[in-house]
Amino acid sequence: MHVVALTGKETLEYQERKYPTISEHEVLLKIYATGVCGSDLRIYQNSDKRIDYPRVTGHEIAGEIVETGSHVKRFNKGDRVTLWAHIPCGVCLYCQKNEGHLCVKGESIGYQVDGGFAEFVVLPREFVEYGSILKISDNTSYELASLSEPFACVLNGLREVEINAGDTVVVYGAGAIGCMYMAAAKRMGAAKVIAIQRSKPRQQLALDIGADIVIDPSNSDTFTKVKAETNGLGADVVIVTAPSAEVQKEALELARTGGRVLYFAGIKHLDEIPINTNHFIYKHLKVVGTHGAPRDLHVESVKWIDEGLIDFSFFVTHTFPLKDTEKAFQTALRKEGLKCVVKPCE
Ligand SMILES: [Zn+2]
Ligand SMILES: [Zn+2]
Repeated sequence: MHVVALTGKETLEYQERKYPTISEHEVLLKIYATGVCGSDLRIYQNSDKRIDYPRVTGHEIAGEIVETGSHVKRFNKGDRVTLWAHIPCGVCLYCQKNEGHLCVKGESIGYQVDGGFAEFVVLPREFVEYGSILKISDNTSYELASLSEPFACVLNGLREVEINAGDTVVVYGAGAIGCMYMAAAKRMGAAKVIAIQRSKPRQQLALDIGADIVIDPSNSDTFTKVKAETNGLGADVVIVTAPSAEVQKEALELARTGGRVLYFAGIKHLDEIPINTNHFIYKHLKVVGTHGAPRDLHVESVKWIDEGLIDFSFFVTHTFPLKDTEKAFQTALRKEGLKCVVKPCE
C-alpha cells in the first residue's frame, strides 16, 4: 500500500509499505477521504513533540472497514465510517466523564500512531472499543464525512459559547472553520452574523455561506462598525478563529456587556497578548476556549452531515489524489479556498 509520510520538517514522502495486518481487537480501514487540518500544516512546518518521524499524519478521516479482528463485534466489513481523532484510554477521569478529547494520555490518530494520508490505516483497540468509529449514512459521501472531525470541534465551541436565537455573532476569520461557525450559528438561529476578514476571496466565501455583513479591518474600523450594527451595545457572541494576539484583544472590546467570547485558535507568541482582564469583570463576560470535541458532539456532527443541516459541500473546495498530498498541503498553506481533501483510494 501507499502512504505519504512526514520524514522531517517540511518533508513529505510518497512511500510504498507492506499491506497492514491487524490483531484480534483491531480494525483495518480503507481510506477514501482525509482532510488537511491546520494542525497538519503546523506539524509539517514546525514538527510536534507528540510526533516521531516517519509519521503519517492526518486525523480527519473517512473510509470503509475492510477487515475486523476476531474479537471485534460492533463493526463489520463494508461499514462506511468516519473517525473521531482521539484515542481515549477509557479509564482516566476525563474519559469516564465523556471528555476523551481531554484524556490524560493525549493520544490521537495521526500523532502517536499513523493516520490518514495513506490507503489503509489500522485502528487501535481503544479506538474500536471506546467509540472513536462512527457509522455514516449510505447517502453521505466520504468527502463530506471527513468534515465530521473539524465540525465536531466547531459544535464544541458553539456549545460552550452558547448561541441563542436572535443573537448577533461576530466571527474573526473566514477559513474553513470560521465559515463552519458562521453557517452553524445561522442554522442555530443567530439573527446577524458579522465576518471579519482581510482577504477578498474569503470575504466572498463568508457572504456565500450566509454572513450578513463582512468587515475588512484593513479599510474600516471594526469596533465602530460592530457597535453601529448592534445599537451601540456590542455583539452577543464573538468567535475568534484567526491566530492573532491583536484580534484576541479586540474580541473582548466587541462583545457587549454580558456577552460571550470564544477563543478557538491558539497563537504563537504569548508575550504579545496584553489582555485587559477588566473586561471579564466589569463587562461580566463569559470567555471560553475550546480545542477538540467530546465524543457526543462527534455523534451530533455526523448527524448534521447525514441530515445536511448546512451545506457541507461548500467547505470542500479542493481534492487531491494521495500522491499529491504535498500539493494539498501547499494549497492549504496558501489559504486557497477552504478545505483541501486527499482521496487516497479513488
Ligand atoms: Zn483537524
Ligand atoms: Zn483517558
